[in-house]
Amino acid sequence: MAERTSKAELRQLARKHLWPCFSPLSETGSYPVIVSGDGCYVFDDDGKRYLDGLAGLFLTNVGHGRKELADAAYEQANKLHFFPLWTFAHPSAIELAAKLASLAPGDLNRVFFGSGGGDAVETAWKLVKQYFRAMGQPGRYKVISRNIAYHGTTLGALAITGVPEIRDRYAPLAPGAFHARNTHAYLQKEQGEELAEVCANDIERIILEEGPETVAAVFLEPVQNAGGCLVPPPTYFQRVREICDRHGVLLVSDETICAFGRLGHMFACNRYGYQPDIITCAKGLTSGYAPLGAAIVSDRLAEPFVDSDETFMHGITYSGHPIGCAIALANIEVLECENLPGRVLQYEDAFRSELETLYDLKFVGDIRGAGYFYGIELVKDSATHERFTEAERNHLLGGILSPRTFELGLICRTEDKAEPVIQLSPPLIAGPEEFREIVRILRQAITEAQEIMG
Ligand code: PMP
Repeated sequence: MAERTSKAELRQLARKHLWPCFSPLSETGSYPVIVSGDGCYVFDDDGKRYLDGLAGLFLTNVGHGRKELADAAYEQANKLHFFPLWTFAHPSAIELAAKLASLAPGDLNRVFFGSGGGDAVETAWKLVKQYFRAMGQPGRYKVISRNIAYHGTTLGALAITGVPEIRDRYAPLAPGAFHARNTHAYLQKEQGEELAEVCANDIERIILEEGPETVAAVFLEPVQNAGGCLVPPPTYFQRVREICDRHGVLLVSDETICAFGRLGHMFACNRYGYQPDIITCAKGLTSGYAPLGAAIVSDRLAEPFVDSDETFMHGITYSGHPIGCAIALANIEVLECENLPGRVLQYEDAFRSELETLYDLKFVGDIRGAGYFYGIELVKDSATHERFTEAERNHLLGGILSPRTFELGLICRTEDKAEPVIQLSPPLIAGPEEFREIVRILRQAITEAQEIMG
């Protein structure tokens, strides 16, 4: 093996050449360099250990360092490292498509592969447009998602994304995307089924305002990540499904984060009891051992393309990449053999209870989520519900909590796409011991922040 680049050189090279995501280039040389992983932990180039409380980026569901997955990649690369799904097929993509069809609810039986979540969302939007054209309703091209929801950054997916600070500087985006009220419940007037009603009705409002004959689909995450794990209030998805059906609109469940056990089910729509027309997924599909995404499509939507001249004019070189598919099959085998979705259901109450011990802290306003997917919303004073100013927020998250939790050995996410939140999404192999470690570090960091900020 060639001699590896030294630590100092790596930082210098990063400063000069690397362009990381959503990050100021000026800081590139100071980012931590993570070199290995094992179970729920990762290690930096000083050998320091961190609890990976975010599962990489909401995806290392089976944990780091899984030999089964590395072996699957090695075997596949030796046998057939690549061949396109453009008028060819190969066993791992066929087998994975069949496996996903067997796991997905209802008649979601047809799988289009891509390389991540954003392109799965793009695929879904293009597909619903073409479906409606083929069905003689070419006017249906608009889509509705929710405020603050993140669905990807390519120009189509970005239009569906509802985060102004990510979208606005890239206007004009793909036309036809609208954003409805999300289900953020903390400190809202409406709660429970009443909240479900007003949020679902807001989707219907847009459909009616735009004209149902122009609306193709609604894109929703089972639990909305951005904004801090916005859970659906009871009956929300049933109401949305009814509204979609009433107006002939399709429902896309964007499960880029929520699928493959994160919420205790292979597909999170099962947790909330609704049947989507398409599931988009990625991340936990391979636990991040290779890039892979998929749009899992209902027989009904695929029907106009079956036994007809109608072709989906869409493709990605790496669609169904053999190594990604082989890894996904091995990953799903681990999820099933170790019953990791079941483990999440077994331990989710313990996770929540452990997190809820933080409620005695003044800055901890709301703890919400499901399965192994939680957000902690921070306020200046949980008794009075006073919120932080923008400057305070930036200081709290960027100046204190983010560096301090990392220093204390926890990788989590602090974000303020809406109110400030700490986000947690540990590997599904985590249990009570890791929950205690997460909470111990958060308690220390938040307590220090309270002291610093008065
Ligand atoms: N949809 C959702 C719900 C996501 O969480 C993400 C990424 N976090 C995406 C789409 C985009 O996925 P990718 O970064 O793989 O394009």
